[in-house]
Amino acid sequence: IKSKLPDVGTTIFTVMSQLAQEHGAINLSQGFPGFDTYPYLRDLLAKYVMEGYNQYAPMTGIPSLKERIADKTLNLHDVAFEAEEEVTVVSGATEALYAAVTAVIEPGDEAIILEPAYDSYSPAVRLNGGVPVYIPLNLPDFSVDWQKVKDAITEKTKVIMVNTPHNPGGYVWTAEDLNQLYALIQDREIYVISDEVYEQITFDGRKHLPVFSHPGLRERSLVCGSFGKTFHVTGWKIGYCLAPKPLSREFRKIHQFLTFSTSTPMQYALADFMENPSRYIFLHEFYEKKRNRFCRGLKETAFEFIPAQGSFFQVVSYGHLSDEKDTEVAIRMTKEIGVACIPVSAFFHDHRDPKLLRFCFAKEDRDLDKALDRIKTFR
Ligand code: PMP
Ligand code: GLN
Repeated sequence: IKSKLPDVGTTIFTVMSQLAQEHGAINLSQGFPGFDTYPYLRDLLAKYVMEGYNQYAPMTGIPSLKERIADKTLNLHDVAFEAEEEVTVVSGATEALYAAVTAVIEPGDEAIILEPAYDSYSPAVRLNGGVPVYIPLNLPDFSVDWQKVKDAITEKTKVIMVNTPHNPGGYVWTAEDLNQLYALIQDREIYVISDEVYEQITFDGRKHLPVFSHPGLRERSLVCGSFGKTFHVTGWKIGYCLAPKPLSREFRKIHQFLTFSTSTPMQYALADFMENPSRYIFLHEFYEKKRNRFCRGLKETAFEFIPAQGSFFQVVSYGHLSDEKDTEVAIRMTKEIGVACIPVSAFFHDHRDPKLLRFCFAKEDRDLDKALDRIKTFR
């Protein structure tokens, strides 16, 4: 069969997690918490399963969960979304992103992707007949070069893909970034698909600014979120999309035929759990302690780094130490000292290699400490 994605193999996350397992390494590669979710959330799920909430949920999500998502958006960002028509519950941010791209992109349309970029964006664009236009972010801080974005816009540009807080770089968009984005699209029919799965994880007093916090952008944007990150349940695969009515309508048509609806008992459990906002508003404090712990240890290694502004990833650079390819360093580190990480070249379409490695610090403190002791010995 002729492949629709000839250049795509198994994702780097799967490859590195498997390698970590083979070598019994501490897995700081694939991004998922190395600890369990809240016992109360597990109990709620068990309760709803046992009480028989086991058939199809409504296509757009159960009303109470859509309301809790709208409440959260109002509490945290002072932006109102109508739960019934502007909030859609889906099976993870991966589905939200795919459905959003499918809703907006027509064959031949261009989508601007800022690299390094999460690996699902480009395949989603291409499978819909779109053309990805790749723009590199500024290194070392992963901020946006707005002149480059401006220069890349053509008649065919239909979408700009945004990711804040950024995976892998940890950069958190500022109000100025939102203004720059709006200035570029206000007079054209360009939409924004914003991946904000790390919305709850920002550090040093920084506030996450969803693209919809800019009134002009609110009307043009589909914002994708995930409960996997916020409640330590990456295996539940539940996410959501916030978008104005006309965009939500189109988004829902796609969701309807991708998965139709999302796990019923999990939606009920999450809706109950979210009744108390203190269950999500302190997540940044929890992860800031882990980032600080990890960065303190990194200072005693040979790597260079700028502490992440958000997300649960820390990127380090080794270009001053060697010319070795990042994939080789990542594999060697896994085999030689038993610590797995992600080579950042995997987030570039041309696999360019700025000699950066990404570590996930969403792990137990004892595992972070053990990993750091090993990284200190790595040459
Ligand atoms: N976007 C980014 C930036 C991610 O890091 C991830 C993975 N954790 C996803 C999307 C996918 O989220 P989900 O597991 O909810 O599909
Ligand atoms: N988002 C996670 C990461 O960046 C992994 C998701 C996946 O394995 N597909 O590591």
